[in-house]
Order: sequence, then C-alpha cells, then structure tokens
Amino acid sequence: MHDNHVANRSAAAARRFPGWMMAGIGASLVLMLSAIWVVTTRSEPAARATAPAARATAPAEHPPGSGGAPAEVPAAAADDGALPDDREITPFDTRHTAVARLDKRLLKAVQEAARDARDDGIEFVVTSGWRSKEHQQRLLEEGIEKYGSLEKAREFVNTPEKSTHVSGKAVDIGPTDADDWLIRNGSAYGLCQVYANEMWHFELLTSPGGTCPGPLNNAAG
Ligand SMILES: [Zn+2]
Repeated sequence: MHDNHVANRSAAAARRFPGWMMAGIGASLVLMLSAIWVVTTRSEPAARATAPAARATAPAEHPPGSGGAPAEVPAAAADDGALPDDREITPFDTRHTAVARLDKRLLKAVQEAARDARDDGIEFVVTSGWRSKEHQQRLLEEGIEKYGSLEKAREFVNTPEKSTHVSGKAVDIGPTDADDWLIRNGSAYGLCQVYANEMWHFELLTSPGGTCPGPLNNAAG
C-alpha cells in the first residue's frame, strides 16, 4: 500500500518533472558507480604498496640475479626486525621494530651515545637490532649456505636460542667510523664490543663509566 502510494507519487512526479527526474536518476547512478569503484579499488593500492616494502626487507645476502625475493614473502616479514637496505636507520627510528623492540636500557644508552657521537661529526646507523626467532633462524641458514657448515656459520651467527638480538639486548652499529667511536667511548654508556670479529656488535656489558670485559673471539666463543 505504502509502496504503491510512493510509486504513484513518483510516477506523478515523473510526469510532472520528467527532465528533473532523469537528471536526478543520472546523478544517483554516477554516485553509485563512483562508490562501487572506490570500494572495489580502495584496498588494491595498499596491497600494492606493501609489496615493494616486503621486497626491501629481504636480506641483502640474496645474490643479485637470483630472481630477488619471491613475491610470496609473508607480510609478517615486515615485522620480524628486518631493516630496509635502501635507507639508513638511526637509533631514533623507533617505528622500526628492530629499534623499538630493543631492551629499553640498551636503546637509551645507544641514543645517548649517538647524540654525543654526532657532536664529534659521527652518525650512528643501526644495521641490525631486535630480530624475531624466525629472522635469526633465516640468518643462520643463510650463514650455513655462505660458510659451508653450521660450525663455521656459528662464528658469525648465533642460534635463535642464544642470540642476544632475539632478546633485544644487542645492536649492530655502522659505519666503521661509528664502530671505532663506540669501541673507544662506549663504556661511558655501558656499551661494549662483544666479539673480536664483529666490531659492529654492541651490548650493555658494564655500568656506565665502567670497564668492558675483553671481547670474545667470536659468536661461538
Ligand atoms: Zn650483532
């Protein structure tokens, strides 16, 4: 009944204002189509945008020409502590989990050191920080491939169980002049070089102003 009433009224209106009605219907159609277009295409650019990011987080060890990182790199890879290799990340870039998930005391010490180093014209770059277990396992497997055996790889890469990167208690700093600065001045912040064969790897191993223990030969030691 009500519908009929409305239909009758619309029909009457259409008879009275056919041009106006047509314009109205046309405008509604355009609006509807626009809305459909927005809804169907909206998620696409976002999906496309994440693809290069996922590729950028692929480890640098992938040899060029191997086809690069496969497109099926899981989205979660962006959150496993891998850092982009096309940008320099500072100790203040806390939007990266590699930095944000560092032990709070370690992060504070590195930031303080970075500020003071900057006064000496030295810029700290975080080349690695917190890593997920999966990320660490991947690095170990890549190390085994690179060095030919687990034993040799373990001189440079720890297991996920032992890695202080996984627990957020280690940070790798570059470039070399920053490492030199930190090896010389790190103990003032409690920061120490841990392994003789890794001048870039630092942990809080003393109290600020204390003395760093002598570095171990390597990650296996
Ligand atoms: Zn390290």
